[in-house]
Amino acid sequence: MTGRLNHKVLLANALVCAGLLAWLPLSAAFAVESQIPRPAVAQSFPVASDVRVAGDDKQTRFILDLDRSVDVRAFVLADPYRVVLDMPQVTFNLPKGVGTAGRGLIRAFRYGLVMPGGSRMVFDLTGPAKIEKTYVLEAANGQPPRLVVELAAVERAAFKPSRPDDDKLQLRPSVVADASGGAVETTGTATTAKAADSRPVIVLDPGHGGVDNGTQAPSGESEKTIVLEFATALRDRIEKSGKYRVVMTRDDDTFVPLGGRVKIARANAAALFVSIHADALPKREGDAQGATIYTLSDKASDAEAEKLAEAENKADAIAGIDLTEEPAEVADILIDLTQRETRTFSNRFARTLANEMKNVARMHKHPLKSAGFKVLKAHDVPSVLIELGYVSNKADLQQLVSESWRSRTVASVAQAVDAFLGKRVVSATP
Ligand SMILES: [Zn+2]
Repeated sequence: MTGRLNHKVLLANALVCAGLLAWLPLSAAFAVESQIPRPAVAQSFPVASDVRVAGDDKQTRFILDLDRSVDVRAFVLADPYRVVLDMPQVTFNLPKGVGTAGRGLIRAFRYGLVMPGGSRMVFDLTGPAKIEKTYVLEAANGQPPRLVVELAAVERAAFKPSRPDDDKLQLRPSVVADASGGAVETTGTATTAKAADSRPVIVLDPGHGGVDNGTQAPSGESEKTIVLEFATALRDRIEKSGKYRVVMTRDDDTFVPLGGRVKIARANAAALFVSIHADALPKREGDAQGATIYTLSDKASDAEAEKLAEAENKADAIAGIDLTEEPAEVADILIDLTQRETRTFSNRFARTLANEMKNVARMHKHPLKSAGFKVLKAHDVPSVLIELGYVSNKADLQQLVSESWRSRTVASVAQAVDAFLGKRVVSATP
């Protein structure tokens, strides 16, 4: 597929899922910060209460009002041009809708948690720029402490992306740990006593989180919250049987990069990886509805699947993480063989899942699809991605936030997991 076509597809699909925040200034997209229930300890974090952007397309100043001084690290990224501000965990009490439109060099900005203890702001720039200064002003003359970032436009040729040192680009420890080490810390309750635990591991992967809300319903519900609730209920349901151990890639509102999610699956030698998302369709593209189950494929099963995978794969860019230096996949005949077997298992599980889910939940008219989702790329872990429904569809949304729908659907997924893994265990016995 050509770059030009990719670009077109992306624009046409701007409302789908992860693409939402990156490409369209929708006022609803940012309202979610205030809707997330915050733990009581949030009181102890610095609070950001207001934000102002001043200047023009040559020089732009960004000012964030805080209740105390924070340490900030700022860097610039290209493709697309962005400024990323990393800081200790901050409680963002910013006015509703802030960030949807910027000024001068800042087209829009977003913010959220990227790891426990760490917050991030990401500016989408209108063009190449450099950070002239970043500083924090102490409270003075009745003004609160302020974080100030000064940007200046540069020529395309003069633009220098800052590559943050690896030790500075801190992600949550579970994500950066060496997958071969086996001692990977994971989220959730299932990490203790795992050495002696020989039960098959199921990794549940609620999509998006933190700085990346995923798709957004017109009424404000965000994908990251809907799928976290679903995954948590599914974990509880699966663990109740006592037959499996469940590991969550996230169990709070934290951003986890796509590659980190795959690493968690591999590090835990997962028997199954289930990524959970909720889709959205722009109004002009009609009103799709129902759940879809995706598997990995080099060649997308249809244009819609391809667009969706592209949008979902944007998640890391949305959080400001640059993917350009990800190591190329190792070409190895053994990996290739494993991969083929894994894909067979993934497809088998997807069919089992569709059969179970269709009894209790409304399915998309073509419920089984495939495309190049990054999060499904563990070559040795059968992986599927469920789009539970469309937050852009009224009836779907009603279900997505309904307790009874969730509990029925969770039960059907748990049933499929058991049917699939039960069979695998049997077939592996001599
Ligand atoms: Zn998603």
